[in-house]
Amino acid sequence: MSLRSGKTIDTESHKVRAWRLATWRRVLVRTLLALAAGLVSTSCVASVPTPTTTAVPERLSVVTTIYPLQYLAERIGEDRVEVLNVTPPGVEAHDFEPSPRDVAAIYRADLFVYNGSGFEVWASRVVAGLPQAGPTVVEATESMELRAGGDEGGLDPHVWQDPRRYRQQAEVIWRALVAADPSGAATYGANWETLKTDLESLEAEMAQGLASCARDTMVVSHEAFGYLAERFGLRQLPISGLSPEAEPSPARLRLLVGEVRASGATHIFFESAVSPAVAETLAREVGAQSLVLSTLESLTPEESQAGEDYFSIMRENLANLRMALGCR
Ligand SMILES: [Zn+2]
Repeated sequence: MSLRSGKTIDTESHKVRAWRLATWRRVLVRTLLALAAGLVSTSCVASVPTPTTTAVPERLSVVTTIYPLQYLAERIGEDRVEVLNVTPPGVEAHDFEPSPRDVAAIYRADLFVYNGSGFEVWASRVVAGLPQAGPTVVEATESMELRAGGDEGGLDPHVWQDPRRYRQQAEVIWRALVAADPSGAATYGANWETLKTDLESLEAEMAQGLASCARDTMVVSHEAFGYLAERFGLRQLPISGLSPEAEPSPARLRLLVGEVRASGATHIFFESAVSPAVAETLAREVGAQSLVLSTLESLTPEESQAGEDYFSIMRENLANLRMALGCR
């Protein structure tokens, strides 16, 4: 407990410094802009030919916290937005703590989109400290009814694993973009419509692919697939809780071995951003194979370079699920 509070104080001081820097930058930028405006009008008076300002619209700056939200902002915002996702590829998103530079970027942004419901523990601290002139804040799970999860009765934030709930998040982001940049409403509206159709197709494809399977239990490395299980009538058996950092105790692992055997599972899923050691131990113990099931919390650097996205990875997950569950 004392360690934890020490860590918090250290982070706080970083944050305060970052905030001060960001505020200072804002003031500086505004002063420079004001000066530039003054210079332009002076030169007008001196009848220097002024360039006709063909309005190149400034892009809306959006900061997101995790990959699924980055994908939505980019798909709906297209080239009207500049999206910065603070969790880099390959970084485990639950453990992530923003750097002072990340926090400064949030201060300067027009829109800050986070998942909420306990996923980014740091985000509520940052949001609480934002000045009035700061970004518009969007919590993408706000007003969504969430399932309880974990051993401590927390809320499960992994909503994007269910295409229908992810569609709700997309709608929240579409509305936020239109509100922040009404002149882009036509672009945002068209992109939202296409995305909505794509997500409906994905949901139908998953429903069909998982409709008739020999087994219904997926053994997963952490409790990230509750909404997927709920939507498609499956059961998840998680090795760790809502966050992957909570490694199971030896007693819990022994219990799991029994549960996995009883479920008849032939595969143990592990995820790309977390060490597969525990999943592999469990797989050996019960004589199962291990297989990847992406949480999509962050892409791996390889996935990112290969141009993979939400849809391609959800489809790879579907193929692996079908293999593990023996679906026809
Ligand atoms: Zn997770």
